[in-house]
Amino acid sequence: MDRNVGFIGLGIMGKPMALNLIKAGYSLTIFDLNQDAVQRVVSAGAAAAGSPREVAEKSEVIITMLPASQHVKSVILGENGVLKGVKKNAVIIDMSSITPDVSREIAVKAAKKGAAMLDAPVSGGEPKAIDGTLAIMVGGREDVFESVSSIFHAVGKDITLVGDNGCGVTAKLANQIIVNLNIAAMSEALVLAAKAGIDIEKMYQAIRSGLAGSAVLDAKVPMILDRNFTAGGSIAINMKDITNVMDTAHEIGVPLPLSSQLLEIFHALKVDGKINDDHGSIVRYYEKLANIEVKKA
Ligand code: NAD
Repeated sequence: MDRNVGFIGLGIMGKPMALNLIKAGYSLTIFDLNQDAVQRVVSAGAAAAGSPREVAEKSEVIITMLPASQHVKSVILGENGVLKGVKKNAVIIDMSSITPDVSREIAVKAAKKGAAMLDAPVSGGEPKAIDGTLAIMVGGREDVFESVSSIFHAVGKDITLVGDNGCGVTAKLANQIIVNLNIAAMSEALVLAAKAGIDIEKMYQAIRSGLAGSAVLDAKVPMILDRNFTAGGSIAINMKDITNVMDTAHEIGVPLPLSSQLLEIFHALKVDGKINDDHGSIVRYYEKLANIEVKKA
């Protein structure tokens, strides 16, 4: 297995993932529009390329970790994009969270160039990207999945081939419904408890090991009590995912009443100037409705 890996998209998630690949011994060729991010990864040992095409020309495996469908399309399919320089038998791994339709379209176009494609979005946020313990949900051919297994293990821990192309990003849409509706349910409960005047920290300790306990509760309650809304996963990124959820659901005939309300909550938070804050900010929507703040006793 060749160890020349290309990496495009060095943001909150991509940068620590690229650094973990360097730590694992891969030689990386990188590209991002943000030169500060490029310099940080170059100083850890990567080589900078001038375009996605140049990344592809120098790599056997090309990873993309970009914000949304339109960015992945332009980086892979666009002028000076990955497919302009991709080698035969190369593997493109898109680890961004995008729509199943766009992901499958890219897989078909990559196949015409003799390259294979995996969709491999992640869950776990910045802390697990830094630790190299991301959960990775993969769509694509099993032999291709096996051929890049050591790359996945350099950035993740629970790595599952869900099915064919598009299945990874579909699993991620389901993941985003569960995570964000959990935050909304938790927010309703916290605001109720705060307005009723009980000690939120004690309530959290009382319920966290029962059926209400969850990874969401453990990640977000301490942040909310510290009034720390620095993103991790921003409202912008999660609103993009829930928009993709609704579009995909309606295309295949699935009504999602709770997710559609959640999307409106995200729009309200955007209007309220919170688009770049952590999605734990969902609590601030409920706080405004009830005119109360969730804080330490
Ligand atoms: P980010 O906005 O921090 O980073 C995106 C990077 O892509 C930036 O460095 C940006 O400069 C670069 N970029 C954008 N357009 C580009 C282009 N045309 N060419 C080259 N570089 C370009 O986003 P992120 O938080 O790292 O998220 C990346 C993906 O991972 C998203 O699809 C997101 O939904 C998903 N995700 C994020 C989290 C999270 O907690 N942040 C968790 C799981 C999954």
